[in-house]
Amino acid sequence: MDELMLDGNAVAGMLQEVFAVEMTTAMGTCGGCGAADPVGAMHVYRGAGVVMRCPHCDNALVTIVKDEARMVIGFQGVRTLQVAAPETRG
Ligand SMILES: [Zn+2]
Repeated sequence: MDELMLDGNAVAGMLQEVFAVEMTTAMGTCGGCGAADPVGAMHVYRGAGVVMRCPHCDNALVTIVKDEARMVIGFQGVRTLQVAAPETRG
């Protein structure tokens, strides 16, 4: 595997544009092993698109494919995504 590996912070900005909330600290629960981790701790692989993987079991959590016109985000491996409630946002 010679894809470039980054961490979740690398794609947090991209996700933040979509969800309009802070994404580095959003907690994702892996559908494979059940581990809960902040998005910033997930492993990110860039190839033709972006694949975010569980740092514990390597399950593909999120895939992102982007071109000039659109962004397609797949959450095939995430059981839950927990973000801060609006009341707690600064
Ligand atoms: Zn996992």
